[in-house]
This record gives sequence, C-alpha cells and structure tokens, in this order.
Amino acid sequence: MDAGKIHRESIIIDGHCDTILGLMDRPMRPGSQKRDFFTRSDSGHIDLPRLKEGGVTCQVMAVYIEPQYKPARSARRAMEMLDTFYGLLDESDDFRLATTARDIEEAKAQGKTCALLSIEGGEAVEGSLALLRGFYRLGVRAMGLTWNQRNDIADGVGEKSGGSGLTDFGVSLVKEMERIGMLVDVSHLSDSSFWAVANIAERPFIASHSNCRALASHPRNLTDQQIEALAKKGGVIGVVFCPAFVDDNSDNVSLKRLCDHIDHIKSVAGVDHIGLGSDFDGFGAPLGGTDAPKIVLKDVSEMPKLTEELVSRGYTEEEIKKILGGNWLRVYKEVLG
Ligand SMILES: [Zn+2]
Repeated sequence: MDAGKIHRESIIIDGHCDTILGLMDRPMRPGSQKRDFFTRSDSGHIDLPRLKEGGVTCQVMAVYIEPQYKPARSARRAMEMLDTFYGLLDESDDFRLATTARDIEEAKAQGKTCALLSIEGGEAVEGSLALLRGFYRLGVRAMGLTWNQRNDIADGVGEKSGGSGLTDFGVSLVKEMERIGMLVDVSHLSDSSFWAVANIAERPFIASHSNCRALASHPRNLTDQQIEALAKKGGVIGVVFCPAFVDDNSDNVSLKRLCDHIDHIKSVAGVDHIGLGSDFDGFGAPLGGTDAPKIVLKDVSEMPKLTEELVSRGYTEEEIKKILGGNWLRVYKEVLG
C-alpha cells in the first residue's frame, strides 16, 4: 500500500489544538513569541504552511479560557479569541471556517484548509444558555464542558475530591447543545462527570484529545469502560500527542507508542471510534535537561509519518481513512447537520 497516496486522498481532521492562543497579543507560555499564522515557523506546532505540508484538511481550533479569566471574564476572553480567529479568515481565502461536514468536504475538493471552532472550558457561556446559542451563531460547534477545574457545569479532572457529576445547569447545557447541534466534549472531565454525561447523552459525544488509561495512567486518559460507553453512543476519541498522555515514562514516548493507543481503542471499541486530537500548541517541550525530549511528531507537518506507521501495522486503506478524519466527519454529519 502507498501511504503517501492514502494520506493525500484522505480528508484529514485534527480534533484539537491551542494555536489561537499563540496568535493572541499575550500568548500563554512565558517567553513564547506571538506567531503569524500565515508564515512558516519552526516554533510551536501549527501554522497554515505546516497544516498544508501535513495534509490536514480541517483543524479544530480551541478557544481555551485560561484560569486567570475565570469565571467573570470568560465570555469576554472567548470573544477576544474568536476575534483573533476571525481576523485570520479576513486575511486569506485559503483558510476557511467550517461549521458542517459539507464545508470540510468542500474544502478538500477545492484544496483549501479549514478550521472548526471549539470552546475548551464551559465557563465561556457564564451560566447562560443564551450565550451558548450566541457562540453557536458565531460558528462554534463543540465545547469541552470543563478544563481541569470544577465549574458551574461539572467537575474537571483536577478535582480529586470531587465526585459530583453534572450540575442542574450542566444537564440543561448538555441537552441544549444536543438540541442546537453542538458537540459535547468530555476530554478534561473528571470520571464522575464523564459518567454523568454518558448517562444522559442522546447523541454521539466526543473526547477530542484523550488517550487510553490502560496504556498511560494519566487521569486525562479514558478507561476501557469509558471508551466502550463513548463508542456505544457513536462518539469518537481523538488520540492526543501530548507526551504525558502517551506513556507514563517520558523515555517511551514515540509515534509507535501513540499508535499503540490507536490499536487499543480498536481492540476495545472498533476502528469507527478513533480520530486524531493532537493538542498541538497546547503543550511544549519539557523545560530543563540537555537530552532532546521524546516526542510523537515534531509538528503538524509530520502528519504523513502517522499514516506510514498505520500502513506498517497492517491497517487497511479504509481503516486509515476513518482514523485520519472519516470518523470525525461521520460524527459531524450526525450532530452538526
Ligand atoms: Zn486540553
């Protein structure tokens, strides 16, 4: 099988990145430089030239609400990030907003790159279903209910003494997201909140950037029972390249080890529930030490290596196309319309 040909033909969708943050006036990481999305850079993981080199058709871009803006200025911060994103659309016709599966198929047919908007941290809606609908009207099509903290919706994975599921507002939010056609993202939820979502979800829900806890014990990863429950509802798990979620021992992090997670999800739930959720630009190289850090891929331009690895593991062309984006596309068709 020709891995290059499969990669070129595929609609490739990456389910999560934090690139918008790096384009803001005050980027997150101390010392990190504000980048220009349209200029190829060697720092960070994603810009338009590298998305094209990597063959990515649709990049899901997170509007990540940093802790210092929570809770009172979350909506304002989300609006500022959306403004930065919309500024990119104004600058180039080569880069587009996608709000439906059809938009992504069209972008592929026309050789364009597109982005689907997601909010990471439900604080952004500030307890208001009206704000949720407002963000939908601005093009947002997915939302992670929490980041690591507890909020007025659910418990994040960092709430060790939590144990609660969804608040009453959280329940009405999930129902409203399903009604208007917005994807509920359970990455970052605590276990108890995950199950609360799984129990009430009537549509497919997603874990945009999580791996398997059976292979790496980080609580951000999903247990086999969680993978089964998500698959039963028709959802997709985006495998995440962040080293801490790939292996407990940072020396073992590699593209091959990431693909072990893909193998594992396939063995637990089947190939229809696997996608990509790199989290590019959401993690950096570990500070200190002189050894080169072990990584999955240097940046998004190296995405073809993933296809090569899947070919070498014996995945069929049909399976690879599903993993690279076909499964995300199926869920988008079903939920976003
Ligand atoms: Zn995240």
